[in-house]
Amino acid sequence: MRLEGKKALITGAAQGIGKSIALAMAKEGADIGVTDVNIESAEKTAQEIMALGVKSIALKLDVSKQPEVTGCFEAFVKAFGALDILVNNAGITKDNVLLRMKEEDWDAVMNINLKGSFLCCKEAVKIMAKQRSGKIISISSVVAFMGNPGQANYSSSKAGLIGLTKTIAKEYASRGVRANAVAPGFIQTAMTDVLTDAVKDEMKRAIPLGQFGTPEDVANAVIFLASRESDYITGQVLHINGGMYM
Ligand code: NAP
Repeated sequence: MRLEGKKALITGAAQGIGKSIALAMAKEGADIGVTDVNIESAEKTAQEIMALGVKSIALKLDVSKQPEVTGCFEAFVKAFGALDILVNNAGITKDNVLLRMKEEDWDAVMNINLKGSFLCCKEAVKIMAKQRSGKIISISSVVAFMGNPGQANYSSSKAGLIGLTKTIAKEYASRGVRANAVAPGFIQTAMTDVLTDAVKDEMKRAIPLGQFGTPEDVANAVIFLASRESDYITGQVLHINGGMYM
């Protein structure tokens, strides 16, 4: 049990990669705050987690809304008494080539993917700095490093997360707070299910390991960064992409 007794809050945890991280952390002994815009599915995920024998609560959270973020972290600490791990996982895409990308689609992606993480980090660091310990892990993306046609908003938001991560790592290392990011490549989830078979085949050809990753592949890396095994690692990015970017 690498996370026995730890208290973890995960954003966008009702489904996909966030849910896999939540289940994997619970299997390592952590109590989990399942937060999501969709409270009904967050509640179902929290039920699944409790069946693993740890504590879990579901909390409604739109990460782009500052009062909701503050209220959610307060409710989490009231329920669990501490916050050891924050995973900034909530994210959306609104793809289009630059000249067709609407300003509102730029704003929506930046507000959830980047500003939402900033707001959550602020609340988490308040708690973690007082505790003199805590781990923040943000889910970036390979496109932060490579760019991707149709994703000016998304790749910019994911690149911004790296700057946020490194800055927090420098500002709060002396208070025992570690901040790292993971950069997944193409992972099989609802986000990538919408791609056509032709696009999927083309992508697979660009991956030396020849296949998409799974949400569990991402969860394994996040568990490492949340555990004591990574205590001397901060401000880093762990790439999980089958070799498509080196
Ligand atoms: P997903 O299946 O769409 O899950 C994202 C979750 O975030 C959903 O439960 C969604 O709820 C929730 N969410 C959306 N807007 C939110 C908001 N404002 N506040 C809180 N929660 C919100 O996507 P995924 O593939 O698991 O992706 C998870 C993370 O990994 C994202 O940050 C994504 O950018 C990143 N990532 C994914 C891939 C990939 O290939 N899948 C690769 C690299 C990085 P609703 O469904 O109800 O909207």
